[in-house]
Amino acid sequence: MPFADVIGQEGPKKKIRTALTRQAIGHAYLFSGDDGIGKRLMALRFAQALSCETPPSSAQPDSCGHCRACEQINSGTYPDLLVIEPERDKANPQIKVDQIREIERHVIYRPLLGARKICLIDDADRLTANAANAFLKTLEDPPEHSLFILITNQPLRLLATVRSRCLTLRFAPATPDQFEGALALKQAMAIEDVRFLSRVCGNRIGMALRADLADLRSRHDRFFDLCRSGTLAHATAVLQQAEEFSKSQPFPDVIDWLSHGLRDLLLMTLGPRQDLLLHQSQIPLLEQIAESLTPADIVKLMDALQTLEQAPTQNLNLQLCLENFLFRFHETIHRDAA
Ligand SMILES: [Zn+2]
Repeated sequence: MPFADVIGQEGPKKKIRTALTRQAIGHAYLFSGDDGIGKRLMALRFAQALSCETPPSSAQPDSCGHCRACEQINSGTYPDLLVIEPERDKANPQIKVDQIREIERHVIYRPLLGARKICLIDDADRLTANAANAFLKTLEDPPEHSLFILITNQPLRLLATVRSRCLTLRFAPATPDQFEGALALKQAMAIEDVRFLSRVCGNRIGMALRADLADLRSRHDRFFDLCRSGTLAHATAVLQQAEEFSKSQPFPDVIDWLSHGLRDLLLMTLGPRQDLLLHQSQIPLLEQIAESLTPADIVKLMDALQTLEQAPTQNLNLQLCLENFLFRFHETIHRDAA
């Protein structure tokens, strides 16, 4: 299970391998980038390359994937690796001071089996202020045999003093080709579905592998339900939909499928680039709606959607904002019927 498992990420991979080759591994790394693009996987492969008992004898440092250390790292039972993460089922997941004490106890003793005592802190931006300050003390004077790998999608939320003590490696989503290749490798799937996931997940492979395709499809199909002429024809229907959407969790999902639907409509009004459409199976309906619309009409709806997206953070009444949006939406796409 070597580095090749991490698709793309050539920049971070090269830096880690160079450090391993030169035996010039720092004490703290910060893996920064979107969720679901391989940061945690890379951290585990890094730990394996450092700890592997039978490393492959190639010129490139790597791990074998099947020795005791490699297997224990995969199963989370390796004594020289501690993984710290927030309690994810909480409304506001945090990493607390007791978890930092656990880190201190972990790194104070020399490694039992491997070269380093490794500590992986996932979602490190979730450290509470107290925990971050406690952790900073360890980071300022790290034990010689320690290695910290911090993972975050929001690096600016970390204390600047923590960030500055880490070597930051930036992770980027895969290219569409890498994405398609990776998905083809991991699961048998129609190319249309792979392309759908590529767009919807922004080429984040980890996110796509965790996604429930049928559920995503049915959510995106709601856009076309809204487009059908009867759905929003009466005020009560608009109010009902607005209420339902305002309670939908997480709310950004609603914005997500609405914006993907509008994007398809915009492409349809712009011209014959049907290969770019996300919802290939809805082309007849898209064509029919786009007939009476100009690109400017759709751009106005996209602006309105942006306002709607900001509603929750601006203390606006979400239900009211949704009603406004849905009225405008219905008026625009059924203008000729009015
Ligand atoms: Zn191994």
